[in-house]
Amino acid sequence: MKKIIFLFAVTLFFASCGGNSSAPATDETATEATAEEGGEEATADEADANIAEVTIKGDDAMKYDLSEIKVKEGQTVHLTLVHSGKAPVAAMGHNWVLMKPGTDVEKFATAAINAKDNDYIPADMAADVIAHTKTIGGGETTDVEFTAPAKGTYDFLCSFPGHHATMKGKFIVE
Ligand code: ZN
Repeated sequence: MKKIIFLFAVTLFFASCGGNSSAPATDETATEATAEEGGEEATADEADANIAEVTIKGDDAMKYDLSEIKVKEGQTVHLTLVHSGKAPVAAMGHNWVLMKPGTDVEKFATAAINAKDNDYIPADMAADVIAHTKTIGGGETTDVEFTAPAKGTYDFLCSFPGHHATMKGKFIVE
């Protein structure tokens, strides 16, 4: 009923404008059809439940934007690290390192100071690392993919010298 009234109003409107009424009326119909198609497409786009897409940012203030990351056991984790600052890698490098449970994080971070050539992952403590990204500077992005470990709470940190005190968080597997 509303539509009939609407069409009647449109007809009246264009009738009052005179001879050019047919072209705008056609446009109105076309716009309506496009909107309906768009709606159908949106519902067809579903995320893959087996992949956890995580994006964490590190900035020039030596901070991550996340202090907690939650995933599900056995999920494929695709973690993207974005350095949202401008400082070069030598001055304000960031990486993302996920430690095995029971690791002495302080000891790891101290050893990492001398592991610049290995993305600040000390070679003799590599077994304590579940996954890690490379070390990047301002404006850069990197990523890593791994399988979420067993249920539990894990530490993550940036192992660039001096950063782990503020750049750290909990990686929770549910
Ligand atoms: Zn850092």
